[in-house]
Amino acid sequence: MQVDVVLGLQWGDEGKGKVVDALADRYEVVARFQGGPNAGHTLYHGGQKVILHQVPAGIFHETVKCLIGDGVVMDPEILMGEVAGLERMGVDVEERLFLGRGVQLILPVHRWLEEVSQEGERIGTTRRGIGPAYADRYARRGIALGDLEKADYRRQILDLVAYHVAHFPGASQVEVPERFWAALESLRRLRWVSTYEWLRHHKRVLAEGSQGTMLDVFAGSYPYVTSSHTTVAGVCAGLLVSPRQIGQVWGVIKAYATRVGAGPFPTEITGELAFWLQERGGERGSTTGRLRRCGWLDLVLLKYSIEINGVTALIVTKGDVLAGLPSVKVRVGGPDDAPIYEELPGWESVSDPNYEAFLRWIEAQTGVPVWAISTGPQREDWLIRRKDLMPERA
Ligand code: GDP
Repeated sequence: MQVDVVLGLQWGDEGKGKVVDALADRYEVVARFQGGPNAGHTLYHGGQKVILHQVPAGIFHETVKCLIGDGVVMDPEILMGEVAGLERMGVDVEERLFLGRGVQLILPVHRWLEEVSQEGERIGTTRRGIGPAYADRYARRGIALGDLEKADYRRQILDLVAYHVAHFPGASQVEVPERFWAALESLRRLRWVSTYEWLRHHKRVLAEGSQGTMLDVFAGSYPYVTSSHTTVAGVCAGLLVSPRQIGQVWGVIKAYATRVGAGPFPTEITGELAFWLQERGGERGSTTGRLRRCGWLDLVLLKYSIEINGVTALIVTKGDVLAGLPSVKVRVGGPDDAPIYEELPGWESVSDPNYEAFLRWIEAQTGVPVWAISTGPQREDWLIRRKDLMPERA
């Protein structure tokens, strides 16, 4: 088995969904390995915009199986809502989607915990209970999909709710609504597998990262991070594969930078240019609807991300958004609070030689080839620069 990986190298929203969709048919399996419904992978199918929060972005390919692997935390109501939406579009989800038994459940009490702890305000989380669900996992009291095979699973869930509520004196009992129990039951019509066993029967796997390296719980700007490992290490942990099974590591970057929520952002731009980027780039969170903070590309952080992930090739997105600027800046050094920039000539379009020069400059600075560029949001807006790096079909 070989596992190739698509990772965001910045703060997420680099356009990974589109990249996974484009690469998917070269693999037998597309697998999510971390995160939860805080992901919002936007892609276009038949001209229709689709945002996937839980289902891997390979789902529109008939020949590809999709796995939600053990490292993921999953909200049954959100997942089944998404499944229903895909089925309305004619996608045979039951045939294509597989759930690892080790996937941990996000319960209504996890969302409640995020509200009462005000984590949402402090960190700028998506308020979907993801942090508390991971916290329960690491505290060894979490509930996995496979636990629903036990006779007393309802008791186990109610006990966990009671455990949390007891820590907030004066809080009224947190209800587990009927629609949650119903969503749990409907999960049973999907196929549950042992992530380890099932993956071993496949030769070519594409691991789909969500968020970005700078949001990794260990490698990112803690505490302004997500709750999981968004790096290549997360692939090994979340899919139970060895580092030796990792093949290509595709690093996705935007030609500029964005960040949602609080935390350091050395190259942040404010004022009119930021509004312009937000507007042109559609920089609004696909999960939360919040406007994204915008900034210049940060080569210092990019080199760090490339190194800790062993990135083998880069994919650059959204260069079209910067088109028309007389020049663009890239951070090349200096401390976080006093970044040093290099200014490069701007481009009129992504076919302008100045854009090609920008890409070559990134290659020279990082030592990593830019394999492909995305030239717009649509499925066909692609340009492969290095055909020799294209993965073979499964
Ligand atoms: P992800 O979470 O990394 O998958 O990123 P998102 O899907 O949240 O954000 C990427 C957004 O940019 C989506 O709305 C895409 O349709 C769009 N997008 C992706 N690539 C390009 C590109 O090259 N140019 C433009 N203009 N938009 C793009």
